[in-house]
Amino acid sequence: MRFDFGAASDIGLHRHENQDRYLADGALFAVADGLGGHSGGGTAAATAIDALGRRGRLESLAHLVALVGSANAAILEAARDDPSLTGMSTTLCVLADIGHPADPARLAACNVGDSRLYALAGGRFSQLTVDHTVAENLARDGVITAVEAASRADRHTLTRAVGYERQVHVDGWELAAVEGTRFLLCSDGLTNEVPDPDIVETLRSVTAPAAAARSLVEQAVRPGHGRDNVTVVVVDVADGAGPGPGDPDRLVLAATPAVAA
Ligand code: MN
Repeated sequence: MRFDFGAASDIGLHRHENQDRYLADGALFAVADGLGGHSGGGTAAATAIDALGRRGRLESLAHLVALVGSANAAILEAARDDPSLTGMSTTLCVLADIGHPADPARLAACNVGDSRLYALAGGRFSQLTVDHTVAENLARDGVITAVEAASRADRHTLTRAVGYERQVHVDGWELAAVEGTRFLLCSDGLTNEVPDPDIVETLRSVTAPAAAARSLVEQAVRPGHGRDNVTVVVVDVADGAGPGPGDPDRLVLAATPAVAA
């Protein structure tokens, strides 16, 4: 399977350090948004990304979930070695090629936290991941509306993070790699600063993935915005299965919420 892809990241206008990290190596794409004081957040995110880079062959969603588990363990171990890093953790949103000879056009995705994976397919744009925040949980349970959730103080309070506890619960998806699909992975520094219609318009109008990623980051850090670090990875399925279903929701072959890793 072949992907065209590009990525961009920026510290933003108000932070002293960029604690976002990403990976885009042609077969695995990830965004990690670190949490924790001192240099903990950046260390947690970097440790998770390093663990993803040291992977073996991925041929199933279970393999990817196990890889997120190894990232979780690596962060806990690093924190044990340096008490100033205690409590550091990270979001992690991953899209990976799990194609193999029997099933070549197959992808897996995993998510923990409030970084996001979107798909643009057949002209439709859809968020595949669900944020693991207090406000989102309340909205999903019907306690509050989505509009209320968007303005609550606890909309940034995570209910899950990688490296926080010995076990992490991972949402997982198996996806069809349909040619022409464009995936977006991003940290909340994009989605808190750029309205959805502007994100979609950019993804539709800017053909080259690297240029689209750069444009989205520039919009997030324009004057009056840029309150957080921002990271964007754009991935086009250049050579997969096709012609496809043309609908982002139909890319999802299986969804498994909260698998323990
Ligand atoms: Mn962030």
